[in-house]
Amino acid sequence: MLTKAPRGTKDVLPSEVYKWHYVENIIREICDNFGFKEIRTPGFEHTELFLRGVGESTDIVRKEMYTFNDKGGRSITLKPEGTSPAVRAFVEHNLYAEAMPVKLYYITPVYRYERPQSGRLREHHQFGIEMFGAHDASADAEVISVAMTLFKRLGLNNLELNINSIGCPNCRREYNKALKEFLGENIEKLCDDCKERYKINPMRVLDCKVESCKRILKDAPLMLNYLCDDCKEHFENLQSYLKEAGFNFVINPKIVRGLDYYTKTAFEIISNDIGAQGTVCGGGRYDGLVEECGGPSIPGVGFGMGIERLLLTLENSGIEIPLPKRTDLFICTVGDDAKKYAFSMALRLRNSGLSVEVDNMGRSLKAQMKYANKLNVRYTIILGEDELKNKVVRLKNMDNGEEIEIDIDNVCDKIIG
Ligand code: ATP
Ligand code: MG
Repeated sequence: MLTKAPRGTKDVLPSEVYKWHYVENIIREICDNFGFKEIRTPGFEHTELFLRGVGESTDIVRKEMYTFNDKGGRSITLKPEGTSPAVRAFVEHNLYAEAMPVKLYYITPVYRYERPQSGRLREHHQFGIEMFGAHDASADAEVISVAMTLFKRLGLNNLELNINSIGCPNCRREYNKALKEFLGENIEKLCDDCKERYKINPMRVLDCKVESCKRILKDAPLMLNYLCDDCKEHFENLQSYLKEAGFNFVINPKIVRGLDYYTKTAFEIISNDIGAQGTVCGGGRYDGLVEECGGPSIPGVGFGMGIERLLLTLENSGIEIPLPKRTDLFICTVGDDAKKYAFSMALRLRNSGLSVEVDNMGRSLKAQMKYANKLNVRYTIILGEDELKNKVVRLKNMDNGEEIEIDIDNVCDKIIG
């Protein structure tokens, strides 16, 4: 117990963390290019927020939340997704009083009590973006473009963009009637969860992952055939923007997304390289959410992207992530005076922007060199009595073995050189 991380969680070890940095840096750069600003919200919220913002008929709320009472007796829930906290902050801080649209992004851990398997964790990390205030289909297209741009920058070319429209409350009324009728005829064959969903929110049934339900749902009526004129036009506009951008996409009428607040656009970006949990990115439009969470009626559109699944896709596609920057210099020392000198010399060099290491283990010179080799440093110097006296050192290039004699104060210039 003591030496094992909880089920469904993962350590990111120092030897792997450069992959996260690489992806995160590109994410930040792209968000900056698109004008999305970072927002950081707390790790936990009042449970009520997720009951409202995610929806009581969703799997997240029904089965997956980490909810507990704190010592003050408040019901608290660890963030199971990023959108409702962003909406809560947007409303709480009156961000809608600023120039619209308001464009936000986040990179955050999220918590869901799920059955752990490849690509499905109890703590995972999401990169998400939200755009508030824009009704126009160009906003949906811009949001999708952020994800597509990221994939392209990472070298992922075979992800499949699936889009759908799930209409608005107006056209969904008619559709729900037809769907309920269809499900009613098949109710006995549905799984227990779906029987429950049928009562609370029949559209949830379409999201069921149980094979027998999936088979029945093949013949279910499709929301796309029930869109009102407004939703139809919006969906067509979205497609023309995506075509304009040159993004390949397929219309997948089965995409409904797992969350209650979606309207119009729903999309998923799917990898065929990571097995059953293939959805790397999912999102859509949520015109009802801000109001649902106690704010004014303001539309929104966004996505959540699983970073673990993204990294898995990179790995399985054979894409090499550039290795991290190497340590510039190891200062080997012989004797106490040299050790003290090296200590302050390393500080000076680090302040000049170099990455420098010195011996802290009291190793012999030979062992220090061996260690420097293991660290794969670019350069080494050896400091002993003579070097301190003459203020001259031999700087060794560890890649080609070349050594040059230089003034001790020129080490920095030479390495940066
Ligand atoms: P799924 O259908 O796979 O359960 P979801 O609909 O619950 O996904 P969202 O709530 O839309 O997923 O989350 C956005 C993204 O976060 C997903 O597309 C996926 O990449 C990632 N994700 C969701 N749940 C997990 C998890 N348990 N472990 C790892 N990544 C996850
Ligand atoms: Mg899920």
